Amino acid sequence: MGSINAPSDLGFSASSLPGKLFINNEYVDAKNVETLSVYNPKNGSLVSDKVPIAGADDVEAAVVAAEAAFPTWKAMSAIERREILLKFASLIEQHSHDLAELTRITLGAPFEAFGKFELGLAAETFRYNAGWIDKFAGEAYPQQDGFMRITRHEPLGVTAGIVPWNGPMGTVGLKASPALTTGNCFILKPSEKTPFAALALGHLIKQAGFPPGVFQVLSGAGETGALLARHMRIRKVSFTGSIATGKLIQKMAAESNLKRVTLELGGKSPAVVFDDCNLDNAVEWCVRAIGTNTGQVCFAASRVYIQEGILDKFTERYKAALEERAKAIGDPDKDETLMGPLVDEAQFRRVTGFIERGAQQGTLLTGGKRVGDKGFFIQPTVFTDVKQDAEIYRQEIFGPVSILNSFKTEEEVIKKANSTEYGLMAGVFTENINKAMRVASEFESGMVGVNCISLNFLNAPFGGSKQSGLGRECGRNALESFTEVKTVMVNLTY
Ligand code: NAD
Repeated sequence: MGSINAPSDLGFSASSLPGKLFINNEYVDAKNVETLSVYNPKNGSLVSDKVPIAGADDVEAAVVAAEAAFPTWKAMSAIERREILLKFASLIEQHSHDLAELTRITLGAPFEAFGKFELGLAAETFRYNAGWIDKFAGEAYPQQDGFMRITRHEPLGVTAGIVPWNGPMGTVGLKASPALTTGNCFILKPSEKTPFAALALGHLIKQAGFPPGVFQVLSGAGETGALLARHMRIRKVSFTGSIATGKLIQKMAAESNLKRVTLELGGKSPAVVFDDCNLDNAVEWCVRAIGTNTGQVCFAASRVYIQEGILDKFTERYKAALEERAKAIGDPDKDETLMGPLVDEAQFRRVTGFIERGAQQGTLLTGGKRVGDKGFFIQPTVFTDVKQDAEIYRQEIFGPVSILNSFKTEEEVIKKANSTEYGLMAGVFTENINKAMRVASEFESGMVGVNCISLNFLNAPFGGSKQSGLGRECGRNALESFTEVKTVMVNLTY
């Protein structure tokens, strides 16, 4: 292993894009000759029409390499494995500008407002999980009837991560780092909309010291993901993306080899703002929660419920803050830009379609218009007076679009907040701790913020209830989800 401070070369940049699959620690041409095209959302220009699509033979080659690597990787000493993960974290950090740029050219997220955070998160996931390597212990039970019983957490073997475009490197970290920490081999499939940063990891994977076959990258679209989800020798798929795809993944997993599945899916997260809240704090969190990454965030607070006593004040402040944010919409390559474009034309059409139809479903308070005539920029948009059965009230829009609703009582707002099939994130804003804890326990949601919303921590479980997901990432939960518990029973009686 080289020193962590040794100069390292990413080997790729926006002008020299990665265009090969990374299998068995080598960059190789895909056997499948089809390719994907990707565009820059700031102006619609073609970035590349040569993104490889991994086909069945490519997936098979990666699985064979992973199977060969697994026995050595899982048997490697904890210290050695930890050093590789730590070195990889440092390499990500060292190349965060370049990796963020490789994401930005097809996602459109500015570095200062998003890329820096996302790459920091990716590096930190490897560091955080590296610390678990020699601490993720099993259990021993009291001796009974002359038998001793202990449990061991054993790696599953070949695992895969299928990730979305909105946080392409952060989601890699959330999946790859616990998988590798626990001794699994890991095959990454990035989104077809943001393939480059993931494909560029190859040299860093090698430099960090991962043995061949342990950490591989296959680009492609849904069909490549399906090949992984259906594969008979892949033992787990950790998926982040839409509910519709999540359901397909679970079906394919069940119909193939009953592989383990973790699903991190969509949201329509409610923020509940009581009269007795700190208004500055509530406005700040709610605005950030719908503005970050142009609203393309799974746990964005897209439904805000405001108690009647502060409805006017909150609405005025929220509207003003979003209009202020709209002034910082612009070229994602500039540091001062707060909001870049939506990811692509399809997403632009989807979001503007919701906004156009929304005009019949509620009152447009602010925004709603395209910004500029090039690229896919859109104003932050807020609707009021939206009926509960309206499409914009019920469906995830995945853009900077929120709805404001008023309420009178705690009971009423809990009912409204829970009246959805989603259950990813919720937030309650009040200075009354008893009320905060009561409401927090009533939310049907995997995560709840008290006087905050739309945030997560690496050491606390992350994930959704109801149709927002299955299983949890982060903390010990992620390690458990990448291992099988084995019970060992020892007969002490003879
Ligand atoms: P998507 O479901 O379209 O795609 C996600 C990934 O699945 C991509 O890599 C895609 O290629 C792959 N895929 C598509 N069809 C597939 C198939 N049939 N079989 C296997 N793989 C397939 O989602 P998206 O548009 O990339 O992401 C947006 C969605 O992700 C939103 O709903 C958002 O809320 C959700 N999301 C959730 C979280 C979370 O942690 N809960 C985080 C980020 C995004």
